[in-house]
Amino acid sequence: MEFNGINFDTYFKKYPSKEGFFGKYGGAYISPELQVAMKEISDAYQTICKSSKFIADLRKIRREFQGRPTPISHLERLSNKIGTGVQLYVKREDLNHTGAHKLNHCMGEALLAKYMGKKKVIAETGAGQHGVALATAAAYFGLECDIYMGSVDIKKQAPNVERMKILGANVVEVTHGLATLKEAVDAAFAAYAREYKDAIYCIGSVLGPHPFPMMVRDFQSVVGIEAREQFVSMTGELPDAVVACVGGGSNAMGMFSGFLNDPVDIYGVEPLGRGAKLGDHAASLTYGEEGIMHGFNSIMLKDENGEPAPVYSVASGLDYPSSGPEHAFLRDLGRVKYDVINDEETIDAFYTLARLEGIIPAIESSHAVAYGMKLAKTMDKGSVLICLSGRGDKDMDYVIENYPIPEKI
Ligand SMILES: *Cc1c(COP(=O)(O)O)cnc(C)c1O
Repeated sequence: MEFNGINFDTYFKKYPSKEGFFGKYGGAYISPELQVAMKEISDAYQTICKSSKFIADLRKIRREFQGRPTPISHLERLSNKIGTGVQLYVKREDLNHTGAHKLNHCMGEALLAKYMGKKKVIAETGAGQHGVALATAAAYFGLECDIYMGSVDIKKQAPNVERMKILGANVVEVTHGLATLKEAVDAAFAAYAREYKDAIYCIGSVLGPHPFPMMVRDFQSVVGIEAREQFVSMTGELPDAVVACVGGGSNAMGMFSGFLNDPVDIYGVEPLGRGAKLGDHAASLTYGEEGIMHGFNSIMLKDENGEPAPVYSVASGLDYPSSGPEHAFLRDLGRVKYDVINDEETIDAFYTLARLEGIIPAIESSHAVAYGMKLAKTMDKGSVLICLSGRGDKDMDYVIENYPIPEKI
């Protein structure tokens, strides 16, 4: 399929370029030592990912450990309630082991580490979800695991810190600066530059320097490949629209990659939080501008000094001041439309999906559900497929404390 001068039949062969660019976005803006380390990962990935043994190992892990393929569920009661005739469906990444899509790339990254003969995986974590997924993968493969985390986040996210420790990970406290995600990223990169001979860095989304946006997309593409096949066999046709939430953008890139070459409308949903004022949201693709941070060029939210701006979202997995470079590229191209959902709409979708369908979604995923519901109200027929990136058990205490359980939906 051709779209705005790009032939999507050959898209995955062409993007990213050898240097990791999606148009002008992406690349690897890092120190010379890290350049060496990233090149090692990139070269290893390019050969290993084509080996039939690596592919067979990954497939076995997905089937026997992760519980893939995850199903698609038809949301019949919710569709009836919306009442336009449009049918809503969800791809159930909440049923993936550990309860979210993150394990899809963590198992891939850790398997790569094993093939490269590394002993350790290193990463940062904010809310702790990436840390838990990587600690799970490290335990599975018998790798050491260092997770860098700001002291503020360690206090806030006690259950995830406990999970990581139970799984055998070493949680390294980062105390400088604001002691949150940004400092944890800096500390993890610094550790990696020291230890790259024995370790690999595992980024938690389609972010960071090349080859991570490509590698994480490739590992997540199983979501879109499965979903396309399942949807066609369930309904006999393609969905009219596909929707996913975008933080860094990994669940969305995985889902979208299955449909980029199809006549399907694709929507990425960003968190509008409390509103459009800088500091009240984390909608970088909607309100941001081009800039370089954490080693890659993309669209980001900047403060008056051009530094990454403070961001907010009710979903801790979405509060990042930028998004993956491929999303910036697809946005400029017009192939994917990016739009926003605020906190209130998100919580409404959270309770609605639970009450009408028996599925408690992650607050991150509730953004996509809210958008799918809104979209279905504006269409007069057809179908919408939503990526349900994770389950909401982790969010229940917070939601109940801040948003009373509605009597009726
Ligand atoms: C981390 C997380 C996200 C956001 O990450 P992406 O890379 O944008 O997918 C979304 N949903 C859930 C459930 C998460 O844990």
